[in-house]
Amino acid sequence: MRCQCQSHRKLRLNRKRKTNDRCPICCFNRPCCICDAIPRIELNTKICLVVHARELRRTSNTGRLALRALVNSEMRVRGQTRETLDLKDLLIPQYRTLLFYPTDDAVELDKELVAQDQKPIQLIVPDGTWRQASKVHYRHHELKDVKRVMISTPNISKFHLRAQHRREGMATLQAIAHALGIIEGDLVKAQLMKLYHAKLEQTLIGRGLSSLAKSLA
Ligand SMILES: [Zn+2]
Repeated sequence: MRCQCQSHRKLRLNRKRKTNDRCPICCFNRPCCICDAIPRIELNTKICLVVHARELRRTSNTGRLALRALVNSEMRVRGQTRETLDLKDLLIPQYRTLLFYPTDDAVELDKELVAQDQKPIQLIVPDGTWRQASKVHYRHHELKDVKRVMISTPNISKFHLRAQHRREGMATLQAIAHALGIIEGDLVKAQLMKLYHAKLEQTLIGRGLSSLAKSLA
């Protein structure tokens, strides 16, 4: 049972107010919202983000920013009901579908791979913790024949929105920026990385690390 004393009630009310005041896309409080800076990018490549419902509640999530920026993209949410999400309708012949996940047999996503087929690419991107992302790879049997691709460029940025447990670990928006840089070109990558840096900068400011945020600029 929740404590009804005045100070605890006040604390709960403040927490609720803070949450209500948060932008659902960038997750910052309204005065710090960065959504006006989100570009609108139309591409032949389609990004499909497969995200766990729990991940959507995390303020460090960057997948939603990518979706907002990329017109030709969609999101599928796992873990909302007891039933397993079925992704087989994604496998349509108009696209060459690839799953962005670093298994042992994953191939490097590079320009050579892209040039092998003229069809536009649909890149399925699991979003969330490594554990959640790995479930998209091994639980969704409908995707078993989809080629796994990875980028082995190490992530050399000094500051992260979350602790990364692998050398090449990147935030989802960063990973999508790198992938689209290879598939679509450097301009798209630069636009998305600018958005990623805006998110990182505002996050550092929120953590009281303004001087670090300035050093990113
Ligand atoms: Zn916002």
